[in-house]
Amino acid sequence: MTGAGPARVRVEAAVRRIREAVARPLRIMEVCGTHTMAIGRHGLRSLFPPDLRLLSGPGCPVCVTPGSDIDQAIDLARRPGTVVTTFGDMLRVPGARRETLDAARAAGAHVRIVYSALDAVELARNEPATEVVFIGVGFETTSPTIAAAMKSAREGGVANFSVLPSFKLVPPAMTALCAAPDVRIEGFLCPGHVSAIIGVRAYAPVAEAAKVPCVIAGFDPVDILEGVAGIVEQVRDGRHEVVNGYPRAVHEDGNPAALALLEEIFEVGDAAWRGIGVIPRTGLNVREGWAALDARRKFGLPAPEPDDLPEGCSCGLVMRGVIVPPECPLFRGACTPAAPVGPCMVSSEGACAAYHKYGG
Ligand code: SF4
Repeated sequence: MTGAGPARVRVEAAVRRIREAVARPLRIMEVCGTHTMAIGRHGLRSLFPPDLRLLSGPGCPVCVTPGSDIDQAIDLARRPGTVVTTFGDMLRVPGARRETLDAARAAGAHVRIVYSALDAVELARNEPATEVVFIGVGFETTSPTIAAAMKSAREGGVANFSVLPSFKLVPPAMTALCAAPDVRIEGFLCPGHVSAIIGVRAYAPVAEAAKVPCVIAGFDPVDILEGVAGIVEQVRDGRHEVVNGYPRAVHEDGNPAALALLEEIFEVGDAAWRGIGVIPRTGLNVREGWAALDARRKFGLPAPEPDDLPEGCSCGLVMRGVIVPPECPLFRGACTPAAPVGPCMVSSEGACAAYHKYGG
């Protein structure tokens, strides 16, 4: 799958394999927003046969963050003596009250953009009289870095730092998607960066439960095309195996140090996914022993609520792979990046933003 040779030769070979293997309508999910953007940016859909449909999944961390989490962050940012820190992507996503962190900041709430959770710890260290809260969104790619920041805060005696947790897990969400009666997915293109943390073996339960092939791929066009080729060939042959198409970054057991850190600080629990609902055992909660760094416990905040999309927005259907963005009645009409209705149009990794920018 990762044979040597000029990229053009590999691209042509992968496209040939795809066209030869697709003999009926197939639906494959690329799961992660980074793949969605890469597929659009490189125009890869134009190389596929018409019967092959690539669906975007729930892998945009900002998109699946419940609006009630954003509301809670806004409320914290309005609290005297508290600063909420976050990645820039979160600023324009409306919460359940249709308010954004950006608008709240313009109205005087204390919101600062940081480039990492460690920056937020540093801010807390430099401003000991201020409560610094970091919005902890993301999948297995980002959660270890946030866990490392929490550990650094504790070891450094930084008591005024905490995380508002909204972490999600990719493999159990894939299994749950396949079990939904209105969802039809016949293969998964698995994200290389998440897989570098969780390892190849993390997908075995997905492939076994859903009986679909899972192929891990990097983010170069040739990685993606070879990954898709591997999936459609497995479907043609009636197989459902986990294949590592990104061995230069992904190993069987993932990153043991990152996994140990996650295990130390978090425990698996149910998670609210925006537009999808509560999916059992697809989230990470802060362990009791680390409660002092959990903003939800520290400030007495309730658990997030999942189903709070704006009226008419089909982001839930897009993120579950039931439709593709142009099938939403609001796409490119009432909903554009300049005036987004749903989170999938706001985030740079959102499926609707990708389709709007690059076309289908
Ligand atoms: S086009 Fe807008 S409203 Fe429709 S699904 Fe996408 S983000 Fe939601």
